[in-house]
Amino acid sequence: MAIPAVAAEAVVTSLNSSMDTWDQSAGATLIERRLVDWAAGLAGLGADADGIFTSGGTQSNVQALLMARNRAVAGLSGRLPERLADLRIYASADSHFSIRRAASMLGLGDDAVTAVPVDAQHRMDAESLGAALARGEQEGTRALAVVATAGTTDFGAVDPLRESAAQARAYGVWFHVDAAYGCGLLASERHRGMLTGIEAADSVTLDFHKSFFQPIGSSALLVRDRADFAHITHYAEYLNPAAEAGAAPNQVDKSLQTTRRFDAFKLWVTLRSLGTQAIGTLFDVLLETASAAGERVRSEELLELAAPVQLSTVVFRYAPPGLGEEATDRLNDAVRASLYASGEAMVAATTVDGRRHLKLTLLNPRTTADDVDAILDAVLAHGALLARGADPAAAPAAPATDGGRA
Ligand SMILES: *Cc1c(COP(=O)(O)O)cnc(C)c1O
Repeated sequence: MAIPAVAAEAVVTSLNSSMDTWDQSAGATLIERRLVDWAAGLAGLGADADGIFTSGGTQSNVQALLMARNRAVAGLSGRLPERLADLRIYASADSHFSIRRAASMLGLGDDAVTAVPVDAQHRMDAESLGAALARGEQEGTRALAVVATAGTTDFGAVDPLRESAAQARAYGVWFHVDAAYGCGLLASERHRGMLTGIEAADSVTLDFHKSFFQPIGSSALLVRDRADFAHITHYAEYLNPAAEAGAAPNQVDKSLQTTRRFDAFKLWVTLRSLGTQAIGTLFDVLLETASAAGERVRSEELLELAAPVQLSTVVFRYAPPGLGEEATDRLNDAVRASLYASGEAMVAATTVDGRRHLKLTLLNPRTTADDVDAILDAVLAHGALLARGADPAAAPAAPATDGGRA
């Protein structure tokens, strides 16, 4: 984590001001607005952009889809449940589960999310998106939003943003980009091009607590047209009376939260002390370390890389030749449990195409290639013993490498 942000946390907690009204948080309101402008500028959202800090990507995604939903049904007559019938959200099969959760919270039902197939790199297939939208129209459903993910949780895959935006535009639907994880690319001079097309979004989710080295929580939802916030604004006499709308700036008109921490301060202090470029350079370091880890996995006969490394995650499995799929699943779960029990490493797990895999997510730029090598050595050592039916806990410890354990 960025040390300036950690120091700023103490100030935020001590001041304990809430972001709802101007009189409680004049400076905080201006700083949050300044950062929203900065982030919208990085994304290239244009002169009418606006945004709000949120508790996390889950909340940002829910709010984006709530705004999209309310806009989609605004002109329709009838009771809300009737107006919501047959609305569909299109997102890749690898999109974050919060999209489905949002659909269920918005009264659309989990099955309102159409899972668009992905390519070999786990990016949404743009042609399949077009076909799904066309099929939905034929079936008499109405598209509510297209969600592209910029940095999927497992593979760091960036969906084709330009093509997805074009499809959304062709059907006149809201285009949301979930860049909760991939937003670090916005600050990277070397890799910013991976997000080309994000400027066409109607809304963007950013998680600074994932990719800008901020303590939890630090996130934002950006919108291309600030007028869209009207779709979620509520007025309360004791807070933001309708009669005084616009009299003083406030952030509560744009937020699903009422009392809200001044989380923008951490990021502001980080940017004032380190600068955007330094953050981007640190993100680049993560990508390099992950890429080297991917190469190492590729070079090991007994390890299998699930997909090319795209951001800072490495998904792989221990796969001795000749072992059946189910036994390989069990072996990888056993390797993970055994590493955890030994205290050597805590490796995450995920399922890819039904098969169990191990996953490294690199978000600390101080993690070195040696640290990662040590973990992969440990995977190999535990895997070899478990494949032979031996208990790694009873075996002599694997030889330590120079980098030690991370
Ligand atoms: C982590 C993640 C989220 C959820 O963000 P939280 O801050 O954990 O709520 C949403 N989308 C993607 C792609 C993510 O990786």
